[in-house]
Amino acid sequence: MSRILVTGGAGFLGSHLCARLMKEGNEVLCVDNLCTGSMDNIRELFGMAGFTFLKQDVAQLPDSWLYQIDGIHQIYNLACPASPPHYQADPVKTAKTSVFGILNMLELARRCHAKILQASTSEVYGDPQVHPQAESYRGCVNPIGIRACYDEGKRMAETLMFDYRRMYGVDIKVIRIFNTYGPKMDPGDGRVVSNFIVQALRGEDLTIYGDGSQTRSFCYVNDLIDGMIRMMNSADGFCGPVNLGNPGEFTMLELAQKVTKLTNSRSRLVYQKLPQDDPAKRRPVINLAERELGWKPETELDKGLEETIAYFRKVLNISQEVYEKAGSRDGVRQL
Ligand code: NAD
Ligand code: UDP
Repeated sequence: MSRILVTGGAGFLGSHLCARLMKEGNEVLCVDNLCTGSMDNIRELFGMAGFTFLKQDVAQLPDSWLYQIDGIHQIYNLACPASPPHYQADPVKTAKTSVFGILNMLELARRCHAKILQASTSEVYGDPQVHPQAESYRGCVNPIGIRACYDEGKRMAETLMFDYRRMYGVDIKVIRIFNTYGPKMDPGDGRVVSNFIVQALRGEDLTIYGDGSQTRSFCYVNDLIDGMIRMMNSADGFCGPVNLGNPGEFTMLELAQKVTKLTNSRSRLVYQKLPQDDPAKRRPVINLAERELGWKPETELDKGLEETIAYFRKVLNISQEVYEKAGSRDGVRQL
């Protein structure tokens, strides 16, 4: 049994991770400021022996709050909004979360002699000029664009991870996560999978940005969590960065067609402006993960979408009752 800190543990990926780590018999301290996460995601864990929640901004300086925390063996650093509309809402805060957040966590790892895993992203490759993307590719990020607060923040966090290893011998692990989806995504967070499913289930038009020819590779959440835990427990001295994602590559039009078919929806497609710097294509090379972690994703997109659609059906029904009671969308957030 280990004592494990998960930052961003009330978010989409973090809540799945906390649940898995608890199931495996660990003690889990979940730290989250709830800016995009939700208590609903971790409700099932409250009252379980060994689970603690701390409402805290990971980027807070001075870092005196960190001294409440001791005896940690492993840190998973996931705190950061991941959906473009969320991370662009307050770009300065997003950059601070990545940079001050990882500095705080690295100091904690140093004091506790804990192993630390950073949830980095395929966004470090920006709008890639090399396809598909292997870890050796250094990326093509616009440093002054609207995605930079996220992309450059994550790149800086990777830099700090490796500098703490070189300067202080901190035991680090870096994963680069490609688009991941599944139950517990926030229906309102603006990412493509949640948008399309919610729109299809409500019979609204599906919003295609640009002409829909841009591609993404979608990984189901259970596969991703499995890879993340394998990376934390990988061979000593293997630091990554390692790509974790599903190499199946789909255009947004293909995704929209799959979602309308699987939901039996009569929704139509509408075309909207492509956001600035939106990457044209993205697909991971996962040879390194296969070799070092014995990992590859198992869940086909159709199967993962079915699970996710079933989840959203449930959530949207609940939301419908709340809409009726509260008469406003704010009621949904307070559920
Ligand atoms: P999410 O928005 O659902 O979760 C992020 C969590 O971090 C939320 O609970 C939020 O409240 C918390 N948080 C944000 N800022 C914080 C702060 N300053 N202090 C404390 N808590 C804070 O997003 P997610 O999809 O679960 O992503 C989790 C991590 O994985 C992020 O670091 C993201 O960059 C990374 N990632 C995710 C994907 C993906 O496709 N889901 C892809 C690449 C990387
Ligand atoms: N997208 C879309 N319609 C939407 C939301 C997103 O066509 O309602 C597109 C978006 O422009 C991008 C892709 O879907 O090309 C993935 O977007 P998402 O925000 O999920 O992730 P990211 O761009 O960070 O990979």
